Amino acid sequence: MMAVLAANGRGPGRGVCDPAGMSTPGRIEVICGPMFAGKTEELLRRVRRAVIAGRKVVVVGHALDVRGGTDRLASHAGLDHPSTAASTIDEIRRAIPDGTEIVAIDEAQFFGAEVVALATELADRGLTVLVAGLDVTFDGEPFEPLPALMALAERVDKLTAICTLCGEEAVFHTRVTAPVAGPEALVAEHVGGVETYQARCRRHFARLG
Ligand SMILES: [Zn+2]
Repeated sequence: MMAVLAANGRGPGRGVCDPAGMSTPGRIEVICGPMFAGKTEELLRRVRRAVIAGRKVVVVGHALDVRGGTDRLASHAGLDHPSTAASTIDEIRRAIPDGTEIVAIDEAQFFGAEVVALATELADRGLTVLVAGLDVTFDGEPFEPLPALMALAERVDKLTAICTLCGEEAVFHTRVTAPVAGPEALVAEHVGGVETYQARCRRHFARLG
C-alpha cells in the first residue's frame, strides 16, 4: 500500500513542508462523461471564472484536438480560451510556468496513466487541477485514466449527453461508422467525431459481445 502511495506522490511527509498551514491546499476536479456531454464547455466555464478572479490559469488540450486551432481550446457551444497543445506528459509539464495556480487539461483520456501522477503532484504542490475527459469507451467499458482520477479527486462532475434515438439521458456513446485503422486515427475520430459517434442511453446502447 505504501508503495502505491509513494508512487502517487502522497508520501507520509505530505504537508510537512507547510508547517504554518497558510498556503492554499491544492485540489483535483474531474469533469467526465461520454462524448457530447459538454465536458469541454464546463471546463472552459470554470477557466473563465478563474480568469475573472485574477488567477493564473494554464489550459492544455490534446495535440490532435484541433477544433479551435492548435493554440485555442474550443467547445462545440462556442466558448474558447488560449491553450497549449500537448501530446505527452512532458509537454504538459513544460506548459506550466512557475506561479501557475490552475491547470486545466482537456481530453485527459489520451494522456494515459501518467496524467494521474501529474495531477496528484500538481495538487500536492497547491495547484487546482481541472481535468476533463471521457470516462467510458465506445464499447461501454471504463476508460482509464478517468476512473482513477475520479477516485483521487476532491470534486467529480459526471455529465451526461442526450440519446440521439429517444432524447433520454445518455451515459454512453456508440460508433455509427466503420472503424478506422491505427491508433492515431482512433484518437482523431474520438475528438469531435459527430459523424462517427452518437450519444446513447442505456436502452439504446448496443454492447459488443
Ligand atoms: Zn435512447
